[in-house]
Amino acid sequence: MRTETENAARVVVIGAGMAGARLAARVPGVTVIGEEAHAPYNRVLLAEVLAGRYEPDVIALPPAEVRRGVRAVRVDRAERRVLCDDGRVIGYGRLVLATGSNPVLPPLRGLGRTLPDGVHPFRTLDDCLALRAAVRPGVRAVVIGGGLLGVSAARALAECGAQVVLAQQGEHLMERQLDAEAAGMLRRHLEALGVEVHTECRVRGLRCTDGDAPAVRAVELADGYELEAEITVLACGVRPRAGLAQAAGLEVRKGIVVDDELRTSDPYIHAVGDCAEHGGTVYGLAGAALEQADVLAEVLAGRPARYEGTRALTRLTLRSPSATPAVAAGAAGPGGGLDLAAFGDSRPMPGDDVIRLADATRGAYRTVVVRGDRLAGGVLFGDLAAVGTLARTWQDDEPLPADMSLLHLLTNDGGF
Ligand SMILES: Cc1cc2nc3c(=O)[nH]c(=O)nc-3n(C[C@H](O)[C@H](O)[C@H](O)COP(=O)(O)OP(=O)(O)OC[C@H]3O[C@@H](n4cnc5c(N)ncnc54)[C@H](O)[C@@H]3O)c2cc1C
Repeated sequence: MRTETENAARVVVIGAGMAGARLAARVPGVTVIGEEAHAPYNRVLLAEVLAGRYEPDVIALPPAEVRRGVRAVRVDRAERRVLCDDGRVIGYGRLVLATGSNPVLPPLRGLGRTLPDGVHPFRTLDDCLALRAAVRPGVRAVVIGGGLLGVSAARALAECGAQVVLAQQGEHLMERQLDAEAAGMLRRHLEALGVEVHTECRVRGLRCTDGDAPAVRAVELADGYELEAEITVLACGVRPRAGLAQAAGLEVRKGIVVDDELRTSDPYIHAVGDCAEHGGTVYGLAGAALEQADVLAEVLAGRPARYEGTRALTRLTLRSPSATPAVAAGAAGPGGGLDLAAFGDSRPMPGDDVIRLADATRGAYRTVVVRGDRLAGGVLFGDLAAVGTLARTWQDDEPLPADMSLLHLLTNDGGF
C-alpha cells in the first residue's frame, strides 16, 4: 500500500471526464484519478468517432495531469483519504466527486450483468471503439432507445453502412426535447438515411446463442415480433454514478445531493457533473457539468461563487457523409445534414402561447413556447439561424419586450 500524505490544501478529484478535466484546467495542482485509460476527451463527440468522421485524438480535451486507469474504490471520510484499486491511498484536504453516470441496463430477458457478445453500451470511448470495430457494411444493428443518445448512435451506425432498426418505447423520438411535429421530421430524416424507426415499441428480451460466451442474435419485442440483430446498442438512459458516495454515507437521492457551492453533506467533499443532484435536478448534460466545475473552481479558490442551476441548450448535428459544411450547418433533407436545437420546456401548458413556423420544402421547423412574459422553451429544426438570440433570451430569463410581435421571435435575428 502506498500512502500519499494528507495535505490540508490538497484537492483530489475522482473522475477525469468532462467535469473533472475542466476542474483540472481551472484548479492548479489538483490530483485527478481517472478510471478510463484514455486522456480526457469530449464525450459529446463520441458519435462522430463512431461514424468514423473523427479519430479519437480529435476529441481530446486540453491536456491535464491525470492518473489514468486508476479507480477509486473507497472514500474514508474519517481519515480524509481515497483508496484506489492499485493499492494507492491518497489523502485529501478537499475531495471532488466527478464520477459521471452509468448507462442504464434495462431489465431484459437474456441480459445479465455480463453483456452478451454483440451488445454494446454507448458511454465511453472504449464502448465507441468496440462498436466501431464490430460494424461493417450490411451488419444488422438494433438500437434500443430513441432519446438523444439512441438517435445519434443510429445515425452514426447507418453512416457506417449498417442496417439499423431503432426501437423507441415512447410515442416519438427524443421525447425529452422534441414535440411530436419536430420528432416526426427527425424520424423522416432518419428513415431517408435507411434507419427503420419503430415507436411505441417495447423490447422484452434478447435472444442469444447458447454456451459459455453467448452472442446476441435477435431482439424480442413485447408483441412477440423479433428483430434480427448481430449488434445491439443499449441507449436506455443513464443513472448517476453515486455508489462511492453512498457507501461513504453521503446524502444521495437521485444523485449526490449538493448545495449552491456544490458541497455534499460532508463539508470537505463536493460533487459536480452527471453524478450531482442540485435543487432536485440531475442534469445529465455537458453544459451543466462544465458550469458546475467552473463555479466549484471559484469556490475552491476561496472566491465567492454560487451555482444556481443551468439553462442548458441541447444541440444535435447530424451530418451525412456527403454533406458540405454549408448543408450541414443549415438545411435538412434526405441525404443532407440536419441541425436540431432544443431548449427549455417546449411542451405547452394551458395558457401558454405557442408560435410555430414550418417550411416543408426546406425541411425547416421552429416553435417557441411563451409563458407569461417569458420564453419557456423552443425547438428549432433544420434552420438554426435564430437559435443564438432565442437561446440567449431564454438563458437570461429576461421578460420579453411588451410591444414585440411574437412572430418576430422566430425571425432570423430573433426580433431584437
Ligand atoms: C454519446 C454521448 C453523447 C452525448 N451528447 C450530449 C450532447 O449532445 N449534449 C449534452 O449536453 N450532453 C451530451 N452527453 C452527456 C455528456 O457527455 C455528460 O453530461 C458529461 O460527459 C458529464 O460530464 P461528467 O464529468 O459529469 O461525467 P463523465 O464525462 O461521464 O465523466 C466521469 C468520469 O469519471 C470516471 N469515474 C467514475 N467513477 C470513477 C472512480 N471510482 N474512479 C475513477 N474514475 C471514475 C468515469 O470513468 C468517467 O471517465 C452525451 C453523452 C454521450 C455518452
